[in-house]
Amino acid sequence: MPALIVKPRARIFHGHEWVYASEIQRLAGHPQPGDVIDLVSARDRFLGSAIYNPASQIVARRFSRRKQDLEADFFLRRLERARDLRHQLDYPDPVYRLVWSEADGLPGVVIDRYGDHFALQTLTLAMDQRKELIADAIEALFSPKSITERNDSPIRKAESLPLATGTLRGETPEPFEISVNGIRQVVDLGEGQKTGIYLDQLDAYVDVARRAPGRRVLDCFCNQGGFALHAARAGASHVTAVDVSAAAVESTRANAALNGLEVEAVEANAFDFLKESETRLQQGSGSEGGDGLYDLIILDPPSFTRNRKSVNDALRGYKEIHLRALKLLSRDGILSTYCCSHHVSREEFLQVIRDASVDARRTVRLLASHSQRLDHPIIPTVPETEYLKGFTFQAVAGW
Ligand code: SAH
Repeated sequence: MPALIVKPRARIFHGHEWVYASEIQRLAGHPQPGDVIDLVSARDRFLGSAIYNPASQIVARRFSRRKQDLEADFFLRRLERARDLRHQLDYPDPVYRLVWSEADGLPGVVIDRYGDHFALQTLTLAMDQRKELIADAIEALFSPKSITERNDSPIRKAESLPLATGTLRGETPEPFEISVNGIRQVVDLGEGQKTGIYLDQLDAYVDVARRAPGRRVLDCFCNQGGFALHAARAGASHVTAVDVSAAAVESTRANAALNGLEVEAVEANAFDFLKESETRLQQGSGSEGGDGLYDLIILDPPSFTRNRKSVNDALRGYKEIHLRALKLLSRDGILSTYCCSHHVSREEFLQVIRDASVDARRTVRLLASHSQRLDHPIIPTVPETEYLKGFTFQAVAGW
């Protein structure tokens, strides 16, 4: 078996599963890209089995601390373990992330379940080469109606993999309806912007909806309206949902109609929308004493940065929307805000909110902290498994 000898002090000695190009002492043997290799310390201690791709910055990713091949039975066992964890989470609907990469011992594999339909991403070369085996394992365990490949993530480029979408098993369905938390939503695995629904936020919808009754709600970056729909059902007095994508706004409207709910969906750049709302507030009356246009604002923007280099620009963007949102909130209004970039830490994100609250002259009080739903488990020694953080604050009336 070819082996990669890892330099001392590499991150793998601190619990990480990756070996970067700069951490390689030497390669023994002639592995092909996508092969399984042994990882060995400079003192010849066996560290585990890894997948190999010299075209990536991350040359090796460990998937087992033992000697292990990537054969059919391996995928079956890993998927069984992934399934058991989700069963324990006891979700009311069979709609969840079944496999979350390193957190399920399958580096680069992401599998989402929407009832009888599954969406698979293989973001590493080795896993991409074995996607039929992975599809076999899904079939054996779930007898699904379809498995669709959604390999259109730009992350694939880091592994020199082309972007691809297609049907692996069965037939990719036309847009179909699922029910989550009792809300009907349409999923489009063929053409959808992502896979249709942000599974990582399903708990957050419920949490935010608890605070929505009687409130004027603004859902910024609404996509297909997850927050807006839940808030409307919970009895918000009015719900506005904003997204820059016409398709997303259309889906939000369609989903609202499907559920007999009223949501005012607006196609707009959220930065402009917030700015214009602020102008409206300043021109209108009733802006005294922190009275504003909305009682509950949700900010769930896309990741403003794909790398560490542009983090400062991203933070400026985050600050702007927080500042404006805080100014728009009524007395004791609530801000639920999320950041899905793993390049921005929880602390950095919190600092943005601190800064915005100082500039807006509003005291904010923490009501809840949020993370990605537990079907996207986090391995603390692999920080990349954590990406979503969020807070719910109350902008307390002056005291
Ligand atoms: N809250 C959503 C997920 C949001 S994903 C949910 O729970 O389902 C981020 C969304 O932001 C995408 O739908 C994207 O179209 C939208 N978006 C990106 N840039 C935007 C901008 N400048 N203004 C408004 N929406 C934007």
